[in-house]
Amino acid sequence: MKIHIPHFVFAHTSDAKEKDNDCKFGGLPEGLPAEKWPVCKECEVPMSFLFQMKHHPERLPLGKEGRVLYVFQCENGGECSTWEADSGCNKVLILEPEEWDKTPMEGVPHDDTMMLPDIAVSKWETKEMTNQEDDSVWTHFGGEPIWIQSPESLGDNYVFTAQLDFSLVVKAADLAELPIGESSEYDGKKSYQLKVGEDDFVWISEAGGNQYHCPFANFGDSGSGYVFVNASIKNPTSKFLWQCY
Ligand SMILES: [Zn+2]
Repeated sequence: MKIHIPHFVFAHTSDAKEKDNDCKFGGLPEGLPAEKWPVCKECEVPMSFLFQMKHHPERLPLGKEGRVLYVFQCENGGECSTWEADSGCNKVLILEPEEWDKTPMEGVPHDDTMMLPDIAVSKWETKEMTNQEDDSVWTHFGGEPIWIQSPESLGDNYVFTAQLDFSLVVKAADLAELPIGESSEYDGKKSYQLKVGEDDFVWISEAGGNQYHCPFANFGDSGSGYVFVNASIKNPTSKFLWQCY
C-alpha cells in the first residue's frame, strides 16, 4: 500500500524557496474567508489553524479539482474535547475554488487563538507503507491510519485520508534565519526556543542532519490526528479526530 510523506521545512527560510504551494502546516491559513474561521463550541474562542491542502488526485482526493481542505482545532488551554470528531472543538472545512478569498490574513482572530509554527512542504515522497515503528511515516497521506488506540470509523462514507502527528521533523539548514530565543542542552542534544506568532514560542530539538523535532498541534500525550474525507462531488465533508498514548 502506497503512502505519501511530506518533507518539512520552516516557511520563509531559504529551505522553503522550493515548496509545495498547495499545502501548508501552521501559521495563518491562505484563501480562507475571515468569516469562515471556526469557533470552538466549548470555550467559544476561535480555533487554531493546523493545516490546509488543495485537492490532489493521489495525496488528497477531495472529489474535484481546486477544492481546498482546512483543518482547525481548539488549542486554547487543552481542556476542550478536541479529540472527538463531532465535539465542535475541531473543524475541517472544504472550500470550493470560487469560495477562496485572496486577501491575506493579518493575524489570528483572537488573542487566545494560538498560532502553530509556520511549516512548508519542500517535497513529497511516495513509498510502500511497511514499518510503522519508523517515526517518519506517522504524518502521511493515503494508505491506512496508524492507530494508537482501537481503530475508529466514521461510517462508510468517510475514508481515511491523512494522519498528522503531534511533532514534525523539520529541516533548517541555517537556524539564524529563524526567530530563535534561548537554547538549552540535554543529553548532548540542543533545543532552541522558536518564536511563533506575536508572543508564543515552542522548543525545537535537534533530530540530526540539520533537522529538528518541532511540536505541532496538541494531540494529548504524543498523539496523532486523523483526517477522514467524504469526497462527494456535490457536498464534500470531512471530519477529524485524534488519539494519544
Ligand atoms: Zn475550546
